[in-house]
Amino acid sequence: MCVFCKIIAGEIPSAKVYEDELCLAFRDINPQAKVHILVIPKEHIPSFSSITEKNADLIAHVLTVAATVAKQEGLASYRIVSNCGPDAGQTVEHLHFHILGGEKLSERMV
Ligand code: AMP
Ligand code: ZN
Repeated sequence: MCVFCKIIAGEIPSAKVYEDELCLAFRDINPQAKVHILVIPKEHIPSFSSITEKNADLIAHVLTVAATVAKQEGLASYRIVSNCGPDAGQTVEHLHFHILGGEKLSERMV
């Protein structure tokens, strides 16, 4: 089981900020901004490149939750990131969207 599936199963603790039957949002263990939250589908989808018409409704829900969580955190400005593949820095092979904010972010994205 991957590390995020273990978090979903409750085998690894996490600082949850939102949960429903389809997705989970929790604080990144190694925050790269004052606010750094990960939003993940509960279904094990390996990466952004696994998004298809078949799971598009689920992905839309996950992104809607990301927008709601950002609002709940009081973020007026923030960045949504999904690293896809090793050269993009993906280290956990379970689709996740980073919410980064709470401070002025770098103007560079790479
Ligand atoms: P990425 O490098 O884009 O695949 O993002 C994976 C993220 O997961 C990194 O920012 C890690 O800090 C974070 N992470 C890994 N393990 C945990 C964990 N147990 N709890 C919270 N965040 C984690
Ligand atoms: Zn997984």
